[in-house]
Amino acid sequence: MKKQHIVYLSLGSNIEPREQNLQTAIELIRKHYEVRNELLISPIYESDPWGFQTEIKFLNLCIQAQTEKTPQEILKINQYIENELGRKPKKTDKYESRPIDIDILFFDNQIIYTEELIVPHPHLEKRRFVLFPLNDLICNLLHPVLLKTIKELKEICTDVSEPKRY
Ligand code: ADP
Ligand code: MG
Repeated sequence: MKKQHIVYLSLGSNIEPREQNLQTAIELIRKHYEVRNELLISPIYESDPWGFQTEIKFLNLCIQAQTEKTPQEILKINQYIENELGRKPKKTDKYESRPIDIDILFFDNQIIYTEELIVPHPHLEKRRFVLFPLNDLICNLLHPVLLKTIKELKEICTDVSEPKRY
């Protein structure tokens, strides 16, 4: 039997139907990651877009999944799911509206630094829309680079946004 890995993901949607997009993405993750145990899913938070202006707010949540897939396989699956849900290729370097964005936050306690994948996700400690739901899931998880727990990162985060429980 191959080793089971624990992966944490951040999901966000700011194109309607936002809740349905999150739900569909979760179903596709369950299927394509071939998860055997139940996924852990955080509450949903609503927050203003981060780094750009738009009418529709984001819905965000975090997931813990157990899978035998490698980080590269997970990245490919996530991109496939983003495309299935109708994500258009990026037109700019900036953040853009999207039916679904799936980011890899942690993969076990591994540190990965390649051109296509950086884990732990390089911006997670700056984003309250990630830290709030992640803290609900697993507040005592230790960030393997910053050596702080999610709870500590949430407390020192200087992001001024106010994600609200949806
Ligand atoms: P963003 O999430 O920053 O709005 P994208 O979802 O379009 O932008 O991702 C841009 C690129 O980030 C992807 O092509 C992917 O290869 C890269 N990337 C690097 N590290 C990660 C990670 N931990 N999770 C997801 N994507 C990542
Ligand atoms: Mg992304």
